[in-house]
Amino acid sequence: MGPDLSPLKAIVGEGAYVEDPALLDRYLIEWRGLYHGRSPLVLKPASTAEVSAIMACCTAQGIAVVPQGGNSGLVGGAIPWSSDSQLQVVLSAERLNRIREIDAANGTMTAEAGCILAGLQQAAAEAGLLFPLSLAAEGSCQLGGNISTNAGGINVLRYGNTRDLILGLEVVLPDGRVLPMLRGLRKDNTGYDLKQLFIGAEGTLGFITAASCRLYPQPTSLATAFVAVDSVDAAVALYSAARRDLGGELQACELLGELALDFALAYQPALRHPLPAAGSWFVLLEAASSRLGADMDEELGRFLSQAMEQGLLADAVLATSGAQRSQFWELRHCISAAQKQAGASIKHDISLPLSKLAEFVAKVSDWLVSQVPGCRPVTFGHLGDGNLHFNVSQPADADPEDFLGRWEFLSRYVHGQAVGLGGSFSAEHGIGTLKAAELAHWRDPVELALMQAIKRTVDPAGIMNPGKLFSAPVLK
Ligand SMILES: Cc1cc2nc3c(=O)[nH]c(=O)nc-3n(C[C@H](O)[C@H](O)[C@H](O)COP(=O)(O)OP(=O)(O)OC[C@H]3O[C@@H](n4cnc5c(N)ncnc54)[C@H](O)[C@@H]3O)c2cc1C
Repeated sequence: MGPDLSPLKAIVGEGAYVEDPALLDRYLIEWRGLYHGRSPLVLKPASTAEVSAIMACCTAQGIAVVPQGGNSGLVGGAIPWSSDSQLQVVLSAERLNRIREIDAANGTMTAEAGCILAGLQQAAAEAGLLFPLSLAAEGSCQLGGNISTNAGGINVLRYGNTRDLILGLEVVLPDGRVLPMLRGLRKDNTGYDLKQLFIGAEGTLGFITAASCRLYPQPTSLATAFVAVDSVDAAVALYSAARRDLGGELQACELLGELALDFALAYQPALRHPLPAAGSWFVLLEAASSRLGADMDEELGRFLSQAMEQGLLADAVLATSGAQRSQFWELRHCISAAQKQAGASIKHDISLPLSKLAEFVAKVSDWLVSQVPGCRPVTFGHLGDGNLHFNVSQPADADPEDFLGRWEFLSRYVHGQAVGLGGSFSAEHGIGTLKAAELAHWRDPVELALMQAIKRTVDPAGIMNPGKLFSAPVLK
């Protein structure tokens, strides 16, 4: 006899689970449509106690649990793979959506895992504070997913990755026990910092139910510029100068290659090219301050004039209104969606030392075109973090399936070049299913063995998100 799902349904109650095949798709298909998973049941608990009861019940029956947030992840991490030998249920955080507390004096916000990121930003702003995590999927991704992927985004330069924004966590272990680590402290040296294990664990160790997040002063002055440069090297030189001259108030430095910008403009015809006559690479620079009397338009404008005189840029335009600033950002944010319209693409989310970015882009683009004539390497990303989304679109007339069939071969080379230059094959999106084989290939065996030992200790029954991070089961 197979596992019994009725106790799980009883825990959440009528209306808080999905089993109708017609309604399951939204939980089973990932954002890019690369994976179409299988599961008979999605559970939507509304409290930590319900999550705890579900986990205990799943452990007792050997049912696997696939945590899911906004399902905006790009590596298939939230997609279940039920098979005859292993039943997997989706544990959705969407009803765990309360902000439990904003403590303005402490500069913290305690929120449940299913809160949508944009809602958290808004709640912090209404309290006069800033929750600085920001990424293009912020209208749908959730805090628990952000934490589980250690999401990066556009403000890492100034505020760090999600890991740097999390002070405490509440986590339910696979056996149902609750780890009450929801402390909002900046200092707390009391042995191993266990919450760090769950940040970036992609749901393979436990289910995050809530987090205590760091808040910052809301900037009172903000300036955004769109800059044209002639090469990746020039973009890196511009960034170095901006970091020197604008200091900690430089909060975003994004790179857009010409093709990425062309895709964005074709996808959003209402948007205008900010600098149609200049450059082949573009940089989106943003500086912000909460200093008394700060005028970032003036400061960023002065920096750009000097950079122009020094030959560090080809041309630049400073946003003169909120609407223009939004248009600059929309060009950057819509690239992933725009690329979807241009057929199949093979994605790489890599990071490199800044000094190696130009060498990487030139060498790897040439190699890709030599292997697949007509393919279109689309380069964009978080320049200041050395993080490129180096996504190769199919040749315009190619068969998408044929092109995607070369994913493994092409990616192994791309990742090898990144690793060879001192970089990483996985910068901010995580491993999920997509890069499990790459993790096994590129990560040091001693590091891998330790990761697997941690997995076995925290999840001895192996019920948490099987097949993610590690392609093979890691039970002894
Ligand atoms: C257009 C677009 C732009 C993006 N830009 C960026 C970017 O700039 N930077 C960046 O880092 N990412 C980016 N992403 C990727 C994605 O948005 C992030 O990885 C995000 O953090 C995922 O959040 P989610 O709630 O959608 O998680 P999901 O996709 O639902 O899940 C992601 C992983 O977290 C696990 N998980 C989810 N919730 C929990 C929980 N409560 N407890 C335990 N495990 C859990 C899942 O099992 C899965 O392994 C982008 C995605 C899109 C579509």
